[in-house]
Amino acid sequence: MAGGIVSEQVEALQAEAFATRQAHFDNRIYFFAPGLKHFETEEFRQQTPQAFRPISLTGSACALQCEHCKSKILEPMIPLDQKEGLLALCRRLAERGTRGVLISGGSQPNGQVPLRKYLPEISRVKQELGLRVMVHCGVVDEDTARGLRDAGVDGVMLDIIGAEETIRQVYHLDLTPGDFERSLAALARYGHSIRPHIILGLHFGRFLGEEQALEMIARYPVDVLVLVILTPLVGTPMQGVEPPAVELIANFFGQARLRMPHTPIMLGCARPLGDHKTAVDRAAIDYGLNGLAYPAEGMVRYARNMGLEPVFRENSCSCGF
Ligand code: SF4
Repeated sequence: MAGGIVSEQVEALQAEAFATRQAHFDNRIYFFAPGLKHFETEEFRQQTPQAFRPISLTGSACALQCEHCKSKILEPMIPLDQKEGLLALCRRLAERGTRGVLISGGSQPNGQVPLRKYLPEISRVKQELGLRVMVHCGVVDEDTARGLRDAGVDGVMLDIIGAEETIRQVYHLDLTPGDFERSLAALARYGHSIRPHIILGLHFGRFLGEEQALEMIARYPVDVLVLVILTPLVGTPMQGVEPPAVELIANFFGQARLRMPHTPIMLGCARPLGDHKTAVDRAAIDYGLNGLAYPAEGMVRYARNMGLEPVFRENSCSCGF
């Protein structure tokens, strides 16, 4: 009996979420394969891996050493050679066909990526090279938000964490969810194209502050919401953690779809592989998300069978449509 009711609720949420997607978007679904890694399936083969490249301003250095990462997400990024400089690096990349860059890096103890001193170069990258510039900024203050606006960046990304315990125990940051909200407010004040990320299961595989993070984000004008999944990385304290259950993830996809019906929602590249990935990718399509990065084999066919029209892009899903 109880099982029957639960599956009815699940089906109802799925149907309502997909109907919401159809009501607010055309039938295109976006598949992304940015040049962060080589990507090839039967359905989607990367053609221009140099098109969109990630740069780490700090190399693999990061003051926070979060429990789920230990700066491992910086490893596939191009480490900035301080002697060469950001503008020269971007010029070199542009000469090789790069059209967009993600400027990211490790964090300072205050949770901010050290962007301030690179603002003049970022401005020149925009003006002289015409590259698309996305920035992963971490928490920001007023001056950085203004500086990024003046530099002309195309979009800003930041992880939004809704639980103080997770901010302290996972990110080792002496901040509160309010500080993340203040960052969203500052970015909105300067008219940025905001692309917040929520990491599902960040609290050691458990859901803790994701709904608070979603509510926070829904209070601001964001252009793309990116959902990623806690991925137990080898060599981190979370390597043995169970990722969150697919049912919980699917339910959150549905909640996000209904809470932000007009906002493009993407499933980002960070998520566990294997059967978990295939099930999560299917759920992303079933619950009306607008796109996913590095889709599991068979997802293009699955989307077509749902009446959706696949569109392929070789930049970050945070870039949106
Ligand atoms: S701040 Fe970012 S790069 Fe540094 S450890 Fe945390 S998630 Fe990794």
